[in-house]
Amino acid sequence: MAASRIVIENCAIATVDAHDTEYPSGHVVVAGNRIESVGPGPAPAGLDGVARRVDGSGHLLTPGLVNTHHHFYQWITRGLATDSNLFDWLVALYPTWARIDEPMVRAAAQGSLAMMARGGVTTATDHHYVYPRGAGDLSGAVIGAATETGVRFTLARGSMDRGASDGGLPPDFAVETLDEALAATEETVDRYHDASPGAMTQVAVAPCSPFSISTELLKRGAELARRKGVRLHTHGSETREEEQFCKELFGMGPTDYFESTGWLGSDVWMAHCVHMNDSDIAAFGRTGTGVAHCPSSNARLAAGIARVPDMLAAGVPVGLGVDGTASNESGELHTELRNALLINRLGAHRESALTARQALRLGTYGGARVLGRQSEIGSIEAGKLADLVLWRMDTLAHSSIADPVAALVLGAPAPVTLSLVDGRAVVEDGHLTRVDEDTVARSARAQAQRLARLAADA
Ligand SMILES: [Zn+2]
Repeated sequence: MAASRIVIENCAIATVDAHDTEYPSGHVVVAGNRIESVGPGPAPAGLDGVARRVDGSGHLLTPGLVNTHHHFYQWITRGLATDSNLFDWLVALYPTWARIDEPMVRAAAQGSLAMMARGGVTTATDHHYVYPRGAGDLSGAVIGAATETGVRFTLARGSMDRGASDGGLPPDFAVETLDEALAATEETVDRYHDASPGAMTQVAVAPCSPFSISTELLKRGAELARRKGVRLHTHGSETREEEQFCKELFGMGPTDYFESTGWLGSDVWMAHCVHMNDSDIAAFGRTGTGVAHCPSSNARLAAGIARVPDMLAAGVPVGLGVDGTASNESGELHTELRNALLINRLGAHRESALTARQALRLGTYGGARVLGRQSEIGSIEAGKLADLVLWRMDTLAHSSIADPVAALVLGAPAPVTLSLVDGRAVVEDGHLTRVDEDTVARSARAQAQRLARLAADA
């Protein structure tokens, strides 16, 4: 039996293919979990097995958004230390974060995922690195939440082995030993990583950041990832203080330190990369190391402006990230398209920094490339996986904006009429199809209150 088809037609389409092909009014045919065809005008007549026909009049169809950096657990610690820089914010929050457990992480992951999926994210990433002793199966809780929501997912299995007694920020009971971190990461890869085409769940090796981990964990983490054939992720060059820290401790800046530990390569992506000089950017370009650009979080924590136009000119793969919602309370990715454009125009390149189409590319194909999945997702092309978002453009917010791509990037957050992941509806008429938003909101609030009480009592 042929796969059943979904036809979406009469909508504007931004394919984000290599030529930025767009159709003012076009169609997409989905067969099973893949895109069968895309083109101008209505869908071909006489298609068999059409299970659903969507009239996309007044809408823009784009590839699903790809989020490349997040910390789901922070969903239940939003709105704290709101006027601090990164270091002071970390100092303020670690005593609370150290007390997370499995029910809290499950509720926080459900909240993070629901918020992103409702706003057009079809592929999500969670960099989870806080594994307090006795906290339960935190990786399983996060992966379970992603499966329930229906989005494609990468768990970046994080770790920290530099607790307070080694000069790190987190309390000792919230960090793992080097051997525990490596063993648990390997176990997570073995248990959950799906290397097959069209995978819904993947795992990356992701020690937290240079100032919370040992050099040995970085080196052996890289070896583990390459032995297993999975990707590598961490935070890099986020603040000036981190640059100072690396220079004092290792006698070199963060990028040189990463290179010395095996952490530059086409299988690596790093969050932030704000404080990079020309030779750092050239090293990323030469090695194909990817960047998760998190403009809202960088602004919230006063970290600075990442040099995205220079990175793109150097051939660096760049995607977008929400980052944890303790430093970006909105938790949405579609607003990061706008913030990436606006914040980069405040940098050296001014109005030529990023176009609306480049911003959309960062949030779709760029993210796919950063996750090593650009042959499968990130653009609307025949043969790719059917991860698609139909944005409503005919309401008060957008109906008078001349160009639908500009409307999506520069306008108010657009409502999602339909979001498909792997050919299945995850959002219909602005609401999640698989999970109840009110239930998720209630349990996130209850777990946030529980965590606040535990932290206050400690
Ligand atoms: Zn982060």
